[in-house]
This record gives sequence, C-alpha cells and structure tokens, in this order.
Amino acid sequence: MPELPEVETTRRGIAPHLEGQRVSRVIVRERRLRWPIPEDLDVRLSGQRIVLVERRAKYLLINAEVGTLISHLGMSGNLRLVEAGSLAAKHEHVDIELESGLALRYTDPRRFGAMLWSLDPLNHELLARLGPEPLTELFDGDRLFKLSRGRSMAVKPFIMDNAVVVGVGNIYATEALFAAGIDPRRAAGGISRARYLRLAVEIKRILAAAIERGGTTLRDFIGGDGQPGYFQQELFVYGRAYEACKVCGSELREVKLGQRASVFCLKCQR
Ligand SMILES: [Zn+2]
Repeated sequence: MPELPEVETTRRGIAPHLEGQRVSRVIVRERRLRWPIPEDLDVRLSGQRIVLVERRAKYLLINAEVGTLISHLGMSGNLRLVEAGSLAAKHEHVDIELESGLALRYTDPRRFGAMLWSLDPLNHELLARLGPEPLTELFDGDRLFKLSRGRSMAVKPFIMDNAVVVGVGNIYATEALFAAGIDPRRAAGGISRARYLRLAVEIKRILAAAIERGGTTLRDFIGGDGQPGYFQQELFVYGRAYEACKVCGSELREVKLGQRASVFCLKCQR
C-alpha cells in the first residue's frame, strides 16, 4: 500500500509535468473506484490550467484555477506521465491529457483509490478532520504527550490515528517505536513526555529518510511504471517476526494491535 513517503514521491514526480499546463481533456474508462469518479470531471477540468500539486496526508491535491482534483492511491494505485493518446492497458482507468502532449495516467488494479472534485478541498469531509503533517512543526512530542493523557489504548494504534498525526502507517509506526525503545503494547496514557519527545523525533527522521530515498526514483514517473515502490530502507523490525533483533540478537515477537501485526523486541523496547 502506498504510504506517505510514496505519495510525496509521486507528488514530486508528477508536479513538474502538471504545474502551469492546461488540461485538454479527461478520459475516464472506469468510474467505479472507492467512490465513483464524478460524471462531470471532464467538463470541470478541461480548459483549466493546473496551478499547484500539493499533498495532504495521503491525498494528492491537483489544484486547477477553479476547483481541485483530490486523488488517493488506495491500496494499489499509481500516477505517471505517458504520451497522450497512448494505448491504455487493463486497470489504467483515467487519463488527464495536457497541452504538452503528455497525459497523467491513473492505474489502480484493486480500485480502492479515489478521484474526487472539490471547490474547497481542505474542508472536504475526507480531509477536514485530519491531524497535522508529521514533518511540520505542528507535530511534536508535546502533542503526543497531551493527546495521550488518560488514554488506555496501546501506543502503536495511537500514533497511527490520523487525528493525532497523519501518515504514520504500519511500517513507520513499527520502526519508530523500535528506534525510540518503546514497547508498542504500552498504554498511550502511561508514556512520559520525554519518551514522546524522542518518539516524535524518530517518526520524523524515518519518514524524512524514506522521502529522501524516493527522490532517486523521480524520473520513473515519466514513461516508467510510476511505482516508487518501497524504498530500500533498512528495516529493523517490520516484517521480521521471529528473526533475530539486529541490535541485541534476541528473537523478535509479534502481536496484533488495532488489527495490525506489530513486531517488536522484548529486550530493546520497554
Ligand atoms: Zn533487541
């Protein structure tokens, strides 16, 4: 599933080819994504110039002069640039053709993604209640400490809650808790301010490193397969249940927290 770093890499990959370009037409071959693509998307977008491509959480906001295309990659979606008019394969559901002769092509085999239209995207129901971006000053350990007081839920689902902070998916939550030495099963409300300060730093460090690695794949967005993939980041615990801890050598454990598999080290995480 594309996580925040892959979505940010997608934004950086497609933005230079979109910004300043006028849309010549929109071709929708399959409307049935997670929500149907609006029938009038072509009418609304064609003829308009794309002003700015932004990201909020895992949503891409393709801002036109009037209105914004909100796109989410779902479980299996990707966006890339192709020659306008080039033959579309199965699962290549949408082309947004540009005056430059390129087209932004949306592919999504599982169709859990989204392409919606909004005149006020930040107040759209999908975005309005999202917490702060993890790589901004609005997110820090103090926020984690304050929001967690009195909460008995485990710390891992707490930091994966989009109302607390956006973009901390399972990989990044698992790795950040290991880096901060915090047992993912601990009650969020029982963790000290000092440990949350450390955790926030590790979340930022790990996400920033993944985005930086994605930068090496930017040219894949034109003509390539648009798959920034999962960056070859060194994983200490994620996906390594019952293997040896890279720090202390003891066997890593796995538990389910908030329906998600969580790998951790009993010795290194308290
Ligand atoms: Zn260990």
